Amino acid sequence: MPSPVEKRPLTGASMTPAYDPRTDPNCIFCKIAAGQIPCYKLHEDEWVVAFLDIAPLSVGHCLVVPKAHYETLDRMPAEWAGACAAVLPRLSRAVVAATAAAGWNVLQNNGRIAGQAVGHVHFHIIPRREGDGLGYRWPAGKLEASEAQRLLAAITGKL
Ligand code: 5GP
Ligand code: ZN
Repeated sequence: MPSPVEKRPLTGASMTPAYDPRTDPNCIFCKIAAGQIPCYKLHEDEWVVAFLDIAPLSVGHCLVVPKAHYETLDRMPAEWAGACAAVLPRLSRAVVAATAAAGWNVLQNNGRIAGQAVGHVHFHIIPRREGDGLGYRWPAGKLEASEAQRLLAAITGKL
């Protein structure tokens, strides 16, 4: 008997064609990916482009951007998410080494409420240093068992 999370495939294999570089002619990141707008490019492959953020939160702040236009992460086929994720370790290592950072955040905003300004999926790499003044409010709560059970059923039911 499969568990609830196994009942549907989680990979993109059965969702959409793997390589479908759809674009939006009004999107700034589509234009950068197509080379129509310049950027300080750190990496490019068939799927992904990575470049320095124009308004950095810290020295070395850069973005990993799929070459296909998907507004938010949930809309992106797994192959595209995987292509972005594949770039993150190597680029993180290079950015951190080159800028002598003490750590870094990978940040990915979805929706205006979450701080997304550009409606094309992207992953921030934000180098961190002692005293940089960056960070989140993180008012941690407590997970009650009854709430956990309710969430398990609700979320796995949607997978
Ligand atoms: P978001 O708030 O959507 O997660 O982040 C969007 C990021 O894209 C911001 O950090 C912003 O500085 C960056 N950005 C917006 N427009 C451009 C651009 O034309 N070139 C570059 N390199 N970065 C951009
Ligand atoms: Zn786009």
